[in-house]
Amino acid sequence: MLFAAAIAAASPLPGQQPPRRSARPHRPPSPPRTAAQRIPTPRSVLGFEPGDDKKLADWPTLLRYYQALSSASDRMRYRELGRTTLGVPLVALAISSPQNLRRLDHYRDLNARLADPRAFKTPKDAAAALRDGKTVVLITSGIHSNEVGGHLTPAILAYRLATDTGAATRAILDNVILWLVPSLNPDGVTIVTHWYNRTLGTPAEGTDPPELYHHYAGHDNNRDWYAFTQVETQLVVDSIHNVWHPQIVHDIHQQDTDGSRLFLPPYLDPVEPNVDPLLIDGVNALGTDMAWTLAGEGKTGIAINAVYDAWTPARAYQHYHGGVRILSEAASANLASPIEVPFDQLATRGRGFNPRERSWNFTSPWPGGRWTLRDIVTYQTDGAYALLENAARYRDRWLANFLTVEGRAVRGWKGWPYAYVLPRQHQDSVGLATLLGILHRGQVEVRTALHPITLGSQRFAAGSYVVVLRQPYAAFAKALLEPQHYPDLRLYPGGPPLPPYDVTAHTLPLLMGVTAVPARDSLRIGLTPPVEPSVANPAYPGFTGPDAPRIGLYRSYVAPMDEGWTRWLFDTWKVPYVSVVDSVVRAGKLHDKFDVLVLPDQSPHELLDGLPHQYPAPYAGGLGQDGVKALRQFVTDGGTLVALNDASRFAVEQLLLPVRNVLEGVADDEFYAPGSIFRLELDSGDPIARGVPAQSVAWYESGPAFDVLDSSAVHVVGRYPAEADKVLLSGWVLHPERVAGRAALVEVKAGSGRVILFGFRPQYRGQSIATYPLLFNSLQLTPR
Ligand SMILES: [Zn+2]
Repeated sequence: MLFAAAIAAASPLPGQQPPRRSARPHRPPSPPRTAAQRIPTPRSVLGFEPGDDKKLADWPTLLRYYQALSSASDRMRYRELGRTTLGVPLVALAISSPQNLRRLDHYRDLNARLADPRAFKTPKDAAAALRDGKTVVLITSGIHSNEVGGHLTPAILAYRLATDTGAATRAILDNVILWLVPSLNPDGVTIVTHWYNRTLGTPAEGTDPPELYHHYAGHDNNRDWYAFTQVETQLVVDSIHNVWHPQIVHDIHQQDTDGSRLFLPPYLDPVEPNVDPLLIDGVNALGTDMAWTLAGEGKTGIAINAVYDAWTPARAYQHYHGGVRILSEAASANLASPIEVPFDQLATRGRGFNPRERSWNFTSPWPGGRWTLRDIVTYQTDGAYALLENAARYRDRWLANFLTVEGRAVRGWKGWPYAYVLPRQHQDSVGLATLLGILHRGQVEVRTALHPITLGSQRFAAGSYVVVLRQPYAAFAKALLEPQHYPDLRLYPGGPPLPPYDVTAHTLPLLMGVTAVPARDSLRIGLTPPVEPSVANPAYPGFTGPDAPRIGLYRSYVAPMDEGWTRWLFDTWKVPYVSVVDSVVRAGKLHDKFDVLVLPDQSPHELLDGLPHQYPAPYAGGLGQDGVKALRQFVTDGGTLVALNDASRFAVEQLLLPVRNVLEGVADDEFYAPGSIFRLELDSGDPIARGVPAQSVAWYESGPAFDVLDSSAVHVVGRYPAEADKVLLSGWVLHPERVAGRAALVEVKAGSGRVILFGFRPQYRGQSIATYPLLFNSLQLTPR
């Protein structure tokens, strides 16, 4: 909050007019010109028309354009929100009429009052805010950096809004305050653009770069909207969402090449049950309106109510903060290189529609043919413009419904607990601080009890934390504090499961080793005003000094996200390590350099074969047989190999370990758990389980589960409960009896070394703090 306030205070004051940002670097000199000529075109800075085949711009170039544009136009203001993971500016443009921009703080305050109706003293105050307020829209683009239309569309949109004098644009500027974040991941713009330019005209043209396009999270960077682990998420939440409370958030993405040309909401079921139904009505109305507008312009191949569901809060901060999330997904080309997609090769795998058949939610099939970057940016720009027209036309309804949603949240929903109680004692201290920090960043008010609390047979000391579920963002707290019951969805009755779009569980107390107890009724005790949580200061003993293990972390050029998350964990918890690429592993003599090697979650095939041979050296090929031989020798020589999730299957197969994966080849309808929290029973005497309660959790996501074939060589450190109905703690599982009683974490002796096999993800997306020690302890086993 303080940070957000500091950013807001540093921004230009209303009434300050150009030259208002004279201290900003890189501003081109502006010679006197006429008003019409003054607004720079994208071409004048980028050197090409956005959408031209095979042309991309890196972030410094795009930044120069936004600086030039906002200097020249009185319809926009440029703000640097902070610095990215790799240290470049993350920016936003405020776009509205010059009159609105002069009173920006006034409109921000009006909207903040609508966001928390407790501030209104009389109904007249609320009516005045509804009458005078503007629809606040946030458009974000380019979070996935290989979806390159998203790098360029904001430039076209901003230029159009800066120059167009038509009635529709004037209505947008008068009724809407638009915050445009031209890239949610500026680092990735440059990574992908440089890779594309480097490989242009080679067999690797149009391929993804051989590194994560977000330094830590890769493609998972849009699954960070409740955990807030990455600086980009933090900056946008702190300085835009939490200050401006947008009624509409539009996130611009791209999908596969061979499905619909554009997806727009409504989303598929399931919708997460804590989302206010009025927001889903808003999503449905706005997405359908956009599709209708684009169809009227002659665009084809638009699917609604397909592919994407609205279950996880990880992609939808605003669904818990009074706003709607409008995802758009345009079909991709090969980065900036055009493709040909014949009609009969349009893929029918997408859920909810068939791209070769007309249906109610896919009214005009695209005929197939050439698909280019120009097509992508046109669909995206016109889609965003249609959204803005709706936001302007229905300003009064967007604001009224926003107030209704927040009013209901403040009064509380029938059937919800009155509060959650989080005791201070017997908690994982980093876990508790992290969880409270997440709630705080999500603008949830956390108070402490002035007296002891009794809930049934449980008694909690005075000073316990209390989250009362009658406040504007109660839904955010409830969704993250309670267990999930994902519906049992099937392709057809009795058929295989319908996969969720993402994972099915997000219960943070389980993942973070924190107790959170629902209180059904009013606590009838005094509570403090909202408190600031203490700051988590993560560190784990045993990783400093001369006895610290020498750790190597395998870094595949296929760039799996789990490698990035592991690196993030090590950097955040100050675990020293060296990243190890294929050539280093293949060269052997690994035990001379490392005590421990970690293989992050990655498929056996990817580990072995790596990138295909269209990639230039040194990126093509994976560990290969030389790498396998070197890893085997490393363990024989006394090294510890730690394999996570799917990489455990690789270790079992390639090192011929005496365990069997009981889920090998098992079909989805015989066992299924697509990202769920399982109960884990640990052998508390084992050094790997040190510091973790005997009853713990495991983030289960398509991993193996083990049968021991040679008990003299294999020690089971953790297993799933023997009773099938005890396996699932949150999310979804089909046929838990398949894993009941099976080993989930084992230590296998081999040569004079050992292999630690995790059948789950102990460091899932920077959230599963409860199981971090299992990984840290595995890195510290002393030589046998
Ligand atoms: Zn995407």
